[in-house]
Amino acid sequence: MNNSSDNNYSSNSSSTSEQALHLLQTIFGYPAFRSQQGQIVEHVVHGGDALVLMPTGGGKSLCYQIPALIRNGVGIVVSPLIALMQDQVDALAEVGVRAAFLNSTQTFDEILAVEKKMREGDLDLVYIAPERLLTQRCLELLEIVNIALFAIDEAHCVSQWGHDFRPEYIRLSTLHERFPHVPRIALTATADQQTRDEIIHRLQLENALQFVASFDRPNIRYQIVEKANGRKQLLDFIQAQHNGDAGIVYCLSRKKVEETAEFLCEHGITALPYHAGMEMSERSKNQARFLREDSIVMCATIAFGMGIDKPDVRFVAHLDLPKSIEGYYQETGRAGRDGGSANAWMAYGLQDVVQQRRMIDESEANETYKRVQSVKLEAMLSLCETLNCRRVHILDYFGQASEPCGNCDTCLSPPTSFDGTIAAQKILSTVYRVDQRFAAGHVIDILRGIDTERVQQWRHEQLSTFGIGSDKSEAEWRALLRQLIALGLVAVDYDNYSALKLTEESRAVLRGEVRIALRQYKKAEKAVKHKRQSAKDYEETQLSTEEQTLFDQLRWWRVETARTHNVPAYVIFPDATLREIARVAPHTLTALRAISGVGDKKLDSYGKDILTLIEGTAAH
Ligand code: ADP
Ligand code: ZN
Repeated sequence: MNNSSDNNYSSNSSSTSEQALHLLQTIFGYPAFRSQQGQIVEHVVHGGDALVLMPTGGGKSLCYQIPALIRNGVGIVVSPLIALMQDQVDALAEVGVRAAFLNSTQTFDEILAVEKKMREGDLDLVYIAPERLLTQRCLELLEIVNIALFAIDEAHCVSQWGHDFRPEYIRLSTLHERFPHVPRIALTATADQQTRDEIIHRLQLENALQFVASFDRPNIRYQIVEKANGRKQLLDFIQAQHNGDAGIVYCLSRKKVEETAEFLCEHGITALPYHAGMEMSERSKNQARFLREDSIVMCATIAFGMGIDKPDVRFVAHLDLPKSIEGYYQETGRAGRDGGSANAWMAYGLQDVVQQRRMIDESEANETYKRVQSVKLEAMLSLCETLNCRRVHILDYFGQASEPCGNCDTCLSPPTSFDGTIAAQKILSTVYRVDQRFAAGHVIDILRGIDTERVQQWRHEQLSTFGIGSDKSEAEWRALLRQLIALGLVAVDYDNYSALKLTEESRAVLRGEVRIALRQYKKAEKAVKHKRQSAKDYEETQLSTEEQTLFDQLRWWRVETARTHNVPAYVIFPDATLREIARVAPHTLTALRAISGVGDKKLDSYGKDILTLIEGTAAH
């Protein structure tokens, strides 16, 4: 498949772009490049280095796959995601690209076979785990084969402050030193400036062109609800909006993962657990089922999901607060990669704030690291408490300006704010009057005038603030207190039974020198069925009943076919392509070939089957 092209800047650029477009259409079956893909491909084909920042689902893979096909030699893809390599290679084989991988899961004979093919120039792309790439054996092999390019996937793994730090990634700078003439393309979905700078510095990409795509994922609807009974709220949400859909539920602890999966199963949802404490074989089995079947809900710790590129995940739910907006965005980004509508749903409460603060406080890490973590947590809390569009807030965090989206909870049902100064003063003065020695529960009991044993024991019914907050429910006071903690107006002393403390800032509020706006408490509503509503920037046309029937049949056909070929369903065709086939219902191979996602090889493999299926459905 490799054409001989002289890899220098003098080659005619329009012919390169024609060639790239031709490969996109014939091999991958897509009519046009998305956003900056075309420019990136052209730049790399001409031997330039690139840093590509694109959200999950943005289409990073084609940015190195097509240049690897056009340039002489084999494209080397460095990736930490060993578990995915088989699927990636299978997906490429489905479209007729010669690919293989090298990692620790292979036998020596398998490795020898791949190495032989590389030496003989029989491969277009090879995925290699970083630790394998850096071995003497592998580097020596690379010296003697013709290399088209190096793609460094998940490049944020070089960042020591990041959540996916991999020490081997730092040593990848050796690629530049040993192979100075081979272009390198680094790709990531993590976009904050610090990570970006670290990638450039550590991988010596100072001369790389940067391509920063919009980080917006308009098809994802963001919702953050007040947590009352998290699990029950989750169940309501799934039943109301995601019956039969694939989804991921993130929990903080292994125990909670197991309990949540069990709870959902008891209520008729096919849920599986995934966490690092499980047997490897069990974990892989669950992951494989999630990837291959259509409607599994995976309950998992954040150990799950890196590089999971199942395109039809319809929702990502968080039952616990993520540590940072980067983490939240990466996790929620696993929903809707196929471009179809998807939900990012989170239940969040006072306990979450306390728990995350405690984890930072109690961690063994050094002070600098702790400081970085608290800043990140604060940013996450301010996203939860914001009165404005969630998307605007998130994108702003990544340095991108935007307008209110119309597809998040605060846009769809705007929260109201109120002057919370008096309520805050009530809380703060109670904290003060109990000598900053009691935790949230007791402070709220005093405010509400509840006569508990502990109140009597400490004679707290005699405090002037006893009962001054009887107009609000416990949940309301918790929500208010949570906001004060998020705003840094109340601190929690974890070494001391989680006692509430005043801070420097709280004194000004107590003295009435500053006024504060708080978010009006909204009672947790039962999730309503407003599936697939249209939003300003995002719309997905509904299928008619007939089209839906055909779509369902195509999905069944896909399950069967995937099983026979032993590959994940989406490797055969993504949902978006099946939807389009269902809508157009083509009767000829030419018409089928015109649909986005149907390339030459797939037309060859499946075209007849699909036409037969369409005729069968039409006959009924
Ligand atoms: P990323 O690695 O950035 O998360 P992928 O490379 O996996 O994203 O692409 C996400 C999905 O978008 C895949 O299903 C891919 O086939 C599809 N895709 C990528 N580029 C295009 C394009 N130009 N036209 C149509 N679909 C595309
Ligand atoms: Zn919005």
